[in-house]
Amino acid sequence: TKLGIALVGLGYYSTDLIAPALLKTEHCELKGIVTGTPSKVEIWKNKYGLADKNIYDYNNYDQIANNPDIDIIYVILPPSMHREFTVRGAATGKHIFCEKPMAPSVADCQAMIDACNKNKVKLSIGYRCQHDPNLQQVMKVAKERPFGKPKMINSAAGYFDGRTTHWKQNKALGGGVMGDMGVYALQGARMAAGEEPISVIAQASTTRPEIYKEVEETMMFQLEFPSGARAACQSSFGINMNHLQVNYEKGWLKMEPQSGYGNNKGSMSDGTQINFPLASQQPKQLDEDALSIIEKKPMIVPGEEGLRDIRVVEAIYKSVKTGGLVKI
Ligand code: NAD
Repeated sequence: TKLGIALVGLGYYSTDLIAPALLKTEHCELKGIVTGTPSKVEIWKNKYGLADKNIYDYNNYDQIANNPDIDIIYVILPPSMHREFTVRGAATGKHIFCEKPMAPSVADCQAMIDACNKNKVKLSIGYRCQHDPNLQQVMKVAKERPFGKPKMINSAAGYFDGRTTHWKQNKALGGGVMGDMGVYALQGARMAAGEEPISVIAQASTTRPEIYKEVEETMMFQLEFPSGARAACQSSFGINMNHLQVNYEKGWLKMEPQSGYGNNKGSMSDGTQINFPLASQQPKQLDEDALSIIEKKPMIVPGEEGLRDIRVVEAIYKSVKTGGLVKI
């Protein structure tokens, strides 16, 4: 039997990636939707054969509690809405998947973790790359250290966003590049280091102040890790870039792309190619998370992992504000 998923928010990522991926999964399927846009209902009902009783809006969302078709709620809204819809969702007794970044603040993330614990439901954050064997190779090298300790990490994630109005440009909705691509640059560095950063110094900038009025278009940040490794990270809504390079005591690893939806690949200084075939991460992520629930195992990317990123993001913004180094 497949677990039933209800998607909350039917924007780009739900429409173009997650709903199509749920046609390919073995352990979960699309059963319901929660939308604030009534005109989307007919389209989704027809496309995915959804029952009328499995269609909700943001007001009657809490009634999912009484719906046995739904086992999992997947929150795919702008980041500042993740907390409310996770906390309300957990109270329905359904498991929660929530998109990255988990929420704008550590306090929000903690409230989400607490709500899921209190209601005895699982919480998973949509860091799809941690389900990708290519990125798992980076984590494995960090753990097993075949080339010694990591010394210098370069991690970049960005794309040119031509839109002139979007939540990604709105502070209150959780925008700024750190509310989106920035966490991929950060995840790359954290995965490559295999430990948590102890300090950060950051600089925010924009080349399009007429669009990026309230938030940064570009963030550059440097991290220091307990082992002595350092990372230089870049993220931008103005530059197409997606790579990771790690220089260890006795070798190197390179990935490009490092956080694509699929076909991430790279190589290592010993000649090993990193090229596990995975054209699309989302079906694997969804099935692995559904299986963790079915088999009552820990989630691969639990809420605590989402929070670890936001702790660093808070320090990044503090560094931008103070202009100096911030200890984490
Ligand atoms: P989007 O703007 O395309 O969709 C956002 C949805 O939220 C829309 O359906 C919109 O109607 C709804 N919404 C409700 N209230 C809103 C409000 N006040 N302002 C704006 N929209 C509102 O965004 P998206 O790209 O689908 O991103 C949604 C989430 O998914 C974000 O957390 C984003 O970081 C994440 N995401 C993850 C990946 C990934 O690869 N894991 C990729 C894209 C997006």
